[in-house]
Amino acid sequence: MKRVLLKLSGEVLMGAQDYGIDPEFVTELAREVKAAKDTGLEICLVIGGGNIFRGMAGAAKGMDRAQADYMGMLATVMNALAMQSALEQLGVPTRVQSAIEMDKVCEPVIRRRAERHLEKGRIVIFAAGVGAPYFTTDSGAALRAAEMRCDALFKGTSVDGVYDSDPKKNPQAKRYDTVDYDTVLAGNLKVMDASAVALCRDNAIPIVVFSIRERGNLAKVLSGTGVQTIVQEEA
Ligand code: UDP
Repeated sequence: MKRVLLKLSGEVLMGAQDYGIDPEFVTELAREVKAAKDTGLEICLVIGGGNIFRGMAGAAKGMDRAQADYMGMLATVMNALAMQSALEQLGVPTRVQSAIEMDKVCEPVIRRRAERHLEKGRIVIFAAGVGAPYFTTDSGAALRAAEMRCDALFKGTSVDGVYDSDPKKNPQAKRYDTVDYDTVLAGNLKVMDASAVALCRDNAIPIVVFSIRERGNLAKVLSGTGVQTIVQEEA
């Protein structure tokens, strides 16, 4: 692997809090990302916004869905800036590119410019998902992984892989080591939303689901030794 897309759920930026951003925890995450980059990988980063605002939650409380989704997208920009700050304090050069233009704080998404940043050893943090409501940052991650021709999409979240049923509700739930895209889609296995899984399937991008909560796990997973589930076309 030469180039990977790393997607982190917004909720992992909260640390032990139940809302928002814990700067100390963001620094810890940044250390893990730096260690991954130091192995020589080119890294595209996408961070969710669920620690601040999710459109569906706003809509459930009566907000207009599209409006709530735009708020969610803005939340991802705040997370991207927090991660940029943490990475740069560790000496890792980064650029944030947002799908919603905000030229006072970051660049717009320009694929060729992103390529150049990666060539120069910068991490590119893609913010604001696909820039449209009714999507999630998982879809944004799949889209950027495809257009940046990443070798794999690593999804760091609070569970350690894909299970055949919800492990929080069913203690017998079994974790897959590998599973194919269609099983994930047909079983609605909650790895990522369906549009993100389908985009990865159609572009043959493996999805690696792992827990980012355990320290050192990202490096292990990147070297193929960590606990993870790989979603890919079965041979
Ligand atoms: N969002 C959106 N379009 C996108 C990406 C994100 O509308 O392309 C909104 C949506 O409301 C979503 C919120 O931003 O709930 C935060 O993103 P997400 O839920 O994917 O964050 P995560 O679960 O990864 O923390």
